[in-house]
Amino acid sequence: MSSRDPVADLRRIAFLLERANEATYRVKAFRSAAATVAKTPQDELLARAEAGTLAKLPGIGEVTARCVAESLAGEEPVYLRRMAATEGTDQPAAAAALRAALRGDCHVHSDWSDGGSPIEEMALAAADLGHEYFALTDHSPRLTVARGLTPARLRRQLDHVARLNEALPDGFRILTGIEVDILEDGSLDQEDELLARLDVVVGSVHSKLRDESARMTRRMVTALANPHLDILGHMTGRKVSAAGEGDAAHSRARTRPPSTFDLDKVLAAALEHNKAIEINSRPDRLDPPKRMLTVAVEAGCLFSIDTDAHAPGQLDWLDFGCGRAALCGVPADRVVNTWPADRLLEWTRSHTAVP
Ligand SMILES: [Zn+2]
Ligand SMILES: [Zn+2]
Repeated sequence: MSSRDPVADLRRIAFLLERANEATYRVKAFRSAAATVAKTPQDELLARAEAGTLAKLPGIGEVTARCVAESLAGEEPVYLRRMAATEGTDQPAAAAALRAALRGDCHVHSDWSDGGSPIEEMALAAADLGHEYFALTDHSPRLTVARGLTPARLRRQLDHVARLNEALPDGFRILTGIEVDILEDGSLDQEDELLARLDVVVGSVHSKLRDESARMTRRMVTALANPHLDILGHMTGRKVSAAGEGDAAHSRARTRPPSTFDLDKVLAAALEHNKAIEINSRPDRLDPPKRMLTVAVEAGCLFSIDTDAHAPGQLDWLDFGCGRAALCGVPADRVVNTWPADRLLEWTRSHTAVP
C-alpha cells in the first residue's frame, strides 16, 4: 500500500480538534508533530517507523508517532478515523441514548469488601435509578487491603443475596458476582467451584501493574481464556486525576500511568473467547483510554459500561462511561449491560459451557 501524507493527516486532526474546542495542548501536539514531520526526509521517516523510533524525534510523542506510522503504512490513522466518525454527530444525544439503553451495571462493590454501603442500600439506589439489575462484584481474597472475600465469606454472601432478592422490589435483581484478581500467572484468585456458581465474573489486574509488556500481555490473555471470566475490568489500571483544578502536586500523586501490553493480542483474545472489555466509568479511572477504546470498537469487541461504584451515589457515574463510549462510536447492541438479565446470563454461561 502506498503511503498517505502524514503531515496532512496530522494537520487534519489538529483542525478537527480545534473545531471541537479541545484542549490547546492536545492540538499543539499534532501541530508540532506535523512541523517536525514536514522537515524530516521521507527515507528517515520510513526507517524510523520501521524501527519504532519516530517518537525520538523532537515534537513527536507516542500518540502522534502512531498516527505518522499509520499514515506511512497507507492507513488512515485510527485517531483521525475516530474524529471523522464522530464529526457532526450530536455527542450529548448519542451519550444519552446509550445511557438510556443501559439496563444495569456489572461492577458494583458493597461494604462486604471496600465499598461503603450494605448490599441492600446499593440495590435500592440502583432500583431507584431504573436499573433492572446489577452484578455484585466484591473483591477476591488476595486483595486484603480491600477486605477481599474468602471462599467462606463469598459463600455466605451468596446466601445473603438469595434472601435479599426475595425481598427486593419487583423488576430489580442482584446478580451474583466477583471482581476477581488476575494473578501474576493469569489465573483467577478464587475457587473454581465458586467462580462457576457466580452469574458475572469481572477479572481485574490489581498488582504488579508496571510489569513488562510481554508478561502483562500473557497474564491478560490467559485470564481472558479462562472460562470463568466474563468481563475484563479496567484494563490498563491507570488512575487519572479526578480533582480537576486544584492542588496539582496532590492530584499528580494519585495518578498512575496505564500498564503496557500488546493491545491487539488482548483484544484478539477477548474476541476469540467472546468476552467483554469493561468501560470503567469512575472519574479517576476512565479506563480504557479513548485511543484503545477506539481500537477495540474497530476490532468488534463486546463491552460492559460499568461504574465500579463503592457507594450508592456512584451508581449514577454511568454517564461518564457513556460519554466516552459515544465519543468512540461504541454501538449499543455490543454493550452487554444493555441486554436484559436473561440474555446477559445466557452469555456469561456460554463461556463456562465452552470446553
Ligand atoms: Zn478493580
Ligand atoms: Zn472494582
